[in-house]
Amino acid sequence: MTSTTIESPPYPHLFTPLDLGFTMIRNRVLMGSMHTGLEDRAKDFPRLAAYFAERAAGGVGLIVTGGFSPNLVGWLKPFGGKLSWPWEARPHKFVTKAVHEHGAKICAQLLHAGRYGYHPLTVAPSKLKAPINPFTPRALSARGIERQISAYANAAKLARDAGYDGVEIMGSEGYFINEFTAPRTNKRDDAWGGTPEKRMRFAVEIVRRVREAVGPDFIIIYRLSLLDLVEDGNQWDEIVQQAKAVEAAGATIINSGIGWHEARVPTIVTSVPRAAFVDVTAKLKPHVRVPLVATNRINMPEVAEGILAAGKADMVSLARPLLADPQWAAKARAGTPQAINTCIACNQACLDHVFENKLASCLVNPRACHETDLTYRKTFAPKTVAVVGAGPAGLACATVAAERGHRVTLFDAADEIGGQFNYAKRIPGKEEFHETLRYFRHRLEETRVDVRLSTPVTAADLTGFDEVVLATGITPRRVAFPGADHAKVVSYVDVLSGRVKVGARAALIGAGGIGFDVAEYLTHEGRSSSLDPARWMAEWGVDPTFEARGSLVKPQPEPPAREVWLLQRSPGKPGARLGKTSGWVHRATLKAKQVKMLGGVEYLGVDDTGLRIKVDGAEHLLPVDHVVVCAGQEPRRELQADLIAAGKTPHLIGGADVAAELDAKRAIDQGSRLAARL
Ligand code: FAD
Ligand code: NAP
Ligand code: SF4
Repeated sequence: MTSTTIESPPYPHLFTPLDLGFTMIRNRVLMGSMHTGLEDRAKDFPRLAAYFAERAAGGVGLIVTGGFSPNLVGWLKPFGGKLSWPWEARPHKFVTKAVHEHGAKICAQLLHAGRYGYHPLTVAPSKLKAPINPFTPRALSARGIERQISAYANAAKLARDAGYDGVEIMGSEGYFINEFTAPRTNKRDDAWGGTPEKRMRFAVEIVRRVREAVGPDFIIIYRLSLLDLVEDGNQWDEIVQQAKAVEAAGATIINSGIGWHEARVPTIVTSVPRAAFVDVTAKLKPHVRVPLVATNRINMPEVAEGILAAGKADMVSLARPLLADPQWAAKARAGTPQAINTCIACNQACLDHVFENKLASCLVNPRACHETDLTYRKTFAPKTVAVVGAGPAGLACATVAAERGHRVTLFDAADEIGGQFNYAKRIPGKEEFHETLRYFRHRLEETRVDVRLSTPVTAADLTGFDEVVLATGITPRRVAFPGADHAKVVSYVDVLSGRVKVGARAALIGAGGIGFDVAEYLTHEGRSSSLDPARWMAEWGVDPTFEARGSLVKPQPEPPAREVWLLQRSPGKPGARLGKTSGWVHRATLKAKQVKMLGGVEYLGVDDTGLRIKVDGAEHLLPVDHVVVCAGQEPRRELQADLIAAGKTPHLIGGADVAAELDAKRAIDQGSRLAARL
């Protein structure tokens, strides 16, 4: 007798189709809206289509595009993506066709920036400048408000004509509609402000008129601000009232909006705990019948499945995780989460790029938004390739080269892969960096790279290979001032590797990314609050009941484990060069830990009493037990000369190439691009 085992599928809730009555979404994975920079010019739409097509082919259920303004005054920036005329809608057909060919559904996001628009034509309910924007908006007249509502209805109609399955109306994050709903920004006393009912009327009218324009069989997602996280934001009962009203007006799905852009509570950076805000979506669940979407810091299938299985939401929104891995859903469905290239929430290549007016991409996946120009084609001429150094640059290079069919050997002197990521992963709030190393371990196996750890190599070991890649990274820079060789003076490597136990008072020389990270490491004690949502919320002042206005309460930072000074020679405040969208979080965290940050410092010397410095002409003694040097790095490439002497021309990537301004984004990008050419 033969027996059949019926295996239960992995993540059953995640892969249950969602029946909307008039249409079916194949699973519960929603690709959240992200501006990439490909939305703004018609000529980029074929690239945008290729970008979305890869995600659709990777199994995502429903995609939401980056934001398109319904009119000119709603522009996010001058000449940004807009949907007000038929010729603006036409190129969208590339996108909708490409997505539909792979069985996914797609909605266009309608985003009117309101007072967040970076141009002088902005409009808002009241003439109040946003703290993060130099432009003051014009307050709309009643006729002006009517024109905005018509623009939404027109844009939705155009989206339908372009082949979209629906629209997402952006009603959160402090943009235009949210500015109407919140007392913080709506000071009107006419029919559009003054009471909660009048403040939400604008949102409800937009949904009603959009529904009227598109008919019953078209998805309308309404992104509702469930947590404003700003003073004078909405209160819970008002949010419930808004949810019920937009549902009654014709919304098909409600997506969760978390935090205004001007909020001083981080909502998506890596130190935010996974799924930190999902309970607020769960709190809304009993009040509405339409499906609800949970969002923010949901990056792995077990987290997503847990949310759905607990009944906290009906769909999960993943945005950056799908930049990092377009195959996320397919890998989850196949039960191979270890194969997922996890988004580490660094913002370095996605949001930071967008804020710098550059095309978005991804630190761990340089192909994101480069689907058509960076391809890893099979080679017809396999070579033997030696990659020396298993840091981010070497790992990327080795795995891409092997995927293309080359025979790759990867050497590292250390007994584990990862290079400096093995220090980064120890920083409280950077636990996600473990995931990148897990992913690369899996990729090395999958692509059959011959990995030789604990193997410091010399040029003689490398002469037999067709190609030699030096990814040997960096050596920490040493400093030169009196007492630099004192026993108190140690390197960040000594500290993060655990070789040196730092005393109760420490001064850090150098306030770049590593100086900030070491300060965070030294001021924290015990388990990181990024792994403990309740403690994290208390630290940042988020009301755990979500009942307070704006959901804000008094922050309760935990006391620092040590007294720390963070110093730099350059004038000005340390941290000015940290990431655009994450630097403020690092600065605020260290401020809460009472770290003393000083710029314009001259180092006079170290002795048994501590570190002597001069600031603004005055000398000070910092009575510290340790001076930790975080003063940048120099390239490590001693093998290069020997290889050239032996007749080889090695390729240099990552820190071995240029150590200045080095980060993992450049290391992985350089390694991948070299391997694509080999
Ligand atoms: P490395 O990571 O330095 O790797 C080089 C490898 O080569 C090492 O494993 C070494 O053992 C090996 N090697 C050297 N010589 C030999 C030899 N002769 N034989 C065999 N093996 C050899 N970057 C970011 O982008 N974002 C961050 O948030 C971030 N945080 C950081 C936090 C900390 C605490 C630190 C220390 C770094 C951080 N970085 C961050 C920087 C990032 O880790 C580096 O830019 C990146 O690791 C550089 O990669 P790489 O491959 O060039 O070199
Ligand atoms: P860094 O950003 O270049 O900072 C080096 C610091 O050392 C600066 O503050 C510099 O300031 C100081 N310094 C340089 N030469 C010195 C000298 N001779 N004596 C004394 N001080 C000196 O380098 P890093 O902090 O080592 O970081 C390395 C790379 O890793 C960075 O490029 C960064 O992008 C990346 N990283 C990123 C993150 C992140 O969160 N995104 C985190 C960690 C690391 P003064 O010259 O003014 O003194
Ligand atoms: Fe995630 Fe960083 Fe990639 Fe952005 S750049 S998608 S935050 S891993």
